[in-house]
Amino acid sequence: AEVLLEIKDLGIQFKTGEGTVQPIRGVNFTLKKGETLGVVGESGSGKSVTSLAVMGLLPEQNSKIVSGSIHFNNQDLTHLSEREYRKLRGNEMSMIFQEPMTSLNPVFTIGELLSEPLKQHKKMSKKERKEAIIQVLKQVGIPRAEQIINEYPHQLSGGMRQRVMISLALLCEPKLLICDEPTTALDVTIQAQILELMKQIKNEKNMSLLFITHDLGVVAEMCDRVVVMYAGEIVEVAEINELFDTPLHPYTKGLIDSLPSNNDRKSTLYSIKGQVPRPEEIGEGCAFANRCPYAFQKCIEKTPPTFSKGGHLSKCWLQESERQVVIQ
Ligand code: SF4
Ligand code: MG
Repeated sequence: AEVLLEIKDLGIQFKTGEGTVQPIRGVNFTLKKGETLGVVGESGSGKSVTSLAVMGLLPEQNSKIVSGSIHFNNQDLTHLSEREYRKLRGNEMSMIFQEPMTSLNPVFTIGELLSEPLKQHKKMSKKERKEAIIQVLKQVGIPRAEQIINEYPHQLSGGMRQRVMISLALLCEPKLLICDEPTTALDVTIQAQILELMKQIKNEKNMSLLFITHDLGVVAEMCDRVVVMYAGEIVEVAEINELFDTPLHPYTKGLIDSLPSNNDRKSTLYSIKGQVPRPEEIGEGCAFANRCPYAFQKCIEKTPPTFSKGGHLSKCWLQESERQVVIQ
């Protein structure tokens, strides 16, 4: 399939009180048309920062892209002005966040909130807008759509608010939908319903989904391919079945081992001992070495390159003997 999004050698720098850090280092991945790509890692791994960079939403005062490119539809987004970005956001690309309560402005009705992207991106009459809004609300499984458009976010349940967020993201039929922990705040039953809904809509619209989560259980259900991030780098990339059947990177193995066998979706990844190093603690050597049960001398001395086993990528010295280096 054609590539929709291609990230090459992305580096992002942040200014902090103590100096400059680089929480994203040398990130490479592609997202094909119609594909769902999972981005997995603990908090602090850099997955949200990467997605904000794609959306052009990095905080301007204290962060900047210091290397690489982000091509969307063959256009490099790292050179876009804010004005150009505004034409894309909510239109060609949309994002769904974890907390619908904080992302839906409480002073507007649902109808007013949903009118905004249509006013901005589509030439439609008021009547056409209303029809489009009711249609998309029905599509995301919101009952009484005609009444809901006159209600305010706080009048809805958490699950309904998340459905409104999804409808907001879908209104202009984006090519790319980024979901950052979209169901983490919801209870398990609602979570399952929302995920099912997203899968269905994604297939109907042939969208590409970038699915960011700390939850491997969700990844198993949603994704075609998975990127595993650790401490601001990609440590493994694989097709979904291959990732679970033959994980290559010790971090991924740890994540899979810490999945409860009972399919409890509230599982978290924190059973790997120790913590993700802070960006300022990362130097030469493998960033996972202090937590890795397989670490050996070389791991501490030299940062591993990314090795490929027939397209299955792993940034780990254990792969050195048999594999070919693809990214130094
Ligand atoms: Fe573990 Fe070494 Fe591989 Fe890093 S390079 S993941 S420390 S074995
Ligand atoms: Mg996050």
